[in-house]
Amino acid sequence: MTTAMEPRFEARVQKVYYRAHPHLAMSSVTADDILDRFRRVGAFLEGHFRLTSGLHSPGYLQSALVLQHPVEAEACGRAIAERVRGLDVQAVLSPALGGIVIGQEVGRALGVRAIFAERQDGKLTLRRGFTLIAGERVLVVEDVVTTGGSTRETIEVARAAGARVVGAASLIDRSGGNQGLDVPYEALVPISLPTYQPDACPLCAQGLAVVKPGSRL
Ligand SMILES: [Zn+2]
Repeated sequence: MTTAMEPRFEARVQKVYYRAHPHLAMSSVTADDILDRFRRVGAFLEGHFRLTSGLHSPGYLQSALVLQHPVEAEACGRAIAERVRGLDVQAVLSPALGGIVIGQEVGRALGVRAIFAERQDGKLTLRRGFTLIAGERVLVVEDVVTTGGSTRETIEVARAAGARVVGAASLIDRSGGNQGLDVPYEALVPISLPTYQPDACPLCAQGLAVVKPGSRL
């Protein structure tokens, strides 16, 4: 399968897929419910921020700050599990480190084991005695999908082990629909936060003070 799928085409495929499989689109938890959880613990800030990259943005989102609270992590895991219930998942695979906590919680909610792949010599690998059975139905779980790169790499790890990847899911989708995955993909919160070069930042132009995330909490 090619991974360089044209983005618009991919979005259309997903929409058609949801229509054909309504159980995937049904969920009692909305993106706003999840974002509220992020807001309550300071994991989603709105204002005017200087990111680590030096770019400015009207929003700051850090999943680790929500996942540090086991109760929040569990609720997010349940919400993802609810969306993928129809995929008949037998094991969850996540990339270390970002995917481990949420992967564990999705595994808990689905009642299946959760394992992770980690980098060895720069390449994602199953270590620690983790294995996947041939044909096992695997769900790849991430905290955040941005380009889809590490999700694709994790999917390849599962396939190389002979497993069948039945879907991918994340807490946050920052890809703007351009993740180019060749499996059904579910995200609790699709969000795009613009970033600006400091000298072209409209918030700076409005005279708003810029803060480093976390410094005002
Ligand atoms: Zn600015």
